[in-house]
Amino acid sequence: MSDAAERRAELERRAAGWRGCQKCALAATRTQVVIGAGNPDADLMFVGEAPGFHEDKQGIPFVGQAGRLLESLLEEIGLTRERVYIANVLKCRPPGNRDPQPDEIDACEEHLFAQVDLIRPRVVCTLGNFATKLLSGQPYGITRVHGRPQPHRIGSVELVLYPIFHPAAALYTPSMLDTLRADFQRLPELLTGRPEPTPEPVLAGVSQAGVTAAEPEPDYAQLGLF
Ligand code: URA
Repeated sequence: MSDAAERRAELERRAAGWRGCQKCALAATRTQVVIGAGNPDADLMFVGEAPGFHEDKQGIPFVGQAGRLLESLLEEIGLTRERVYIANVLKCRPPGNRDPQPDEIDACEEHLFAQVDLIRPRVVCTLGNFATKLLSGQPYGITRVHGRPQPHRIGSVELVLYPIFHPAAALYTPSMLDTLRADFQRLPELLTGRPEPTPEPVLAGVSQAGVTAAEPEPDYAQLGLF
């Protein structure tokens, strides 16, 4: 499907089905399915982790503290949340904002892949480990790969995958906020043209000296953040 209006209609049609999703146990504890928000024809898509307390209540992603930080970073580069599309790996809140479980990610990923396929963004900015690992298909953690844009294909969509720190992680660590802001500042450049691949094939699945397994990751638990 190539026409933007048709893709938008198809996204709405699919979303209507997802609202009753019973594919994993989170269906029993959620208030509602949080599908995504923003411009369904956006060039820039953000993918976070999962709805938190406020998102679950309001049905909109990134409306808590992390969302306010995301909005202010967007403002710094001349964008608003209405001009981008924002979604999550999981569409339902894990109880207590615990980490997404592998079976939940497996159950939910088809929704995210369908969103990418229908929105056809030029740049997908993954926020934190869960989105980065799922969409890159690689085990490398965000500490290693943040700020490194990579040409990538998701389904039929050729795009630039751009991992950055999760705003929730940066809320409490000033040095991480500086890094997040610096990485964010590169987004306009990525949106205007395809960058050269990062020399080191961090997301390309090519083995690298010294990288044999996923690195240990900082604990970005959402607990208490939202
Ligand atoms: N809110 C979301 O919608 N997603 C996150 O990953 C964090 C907060």
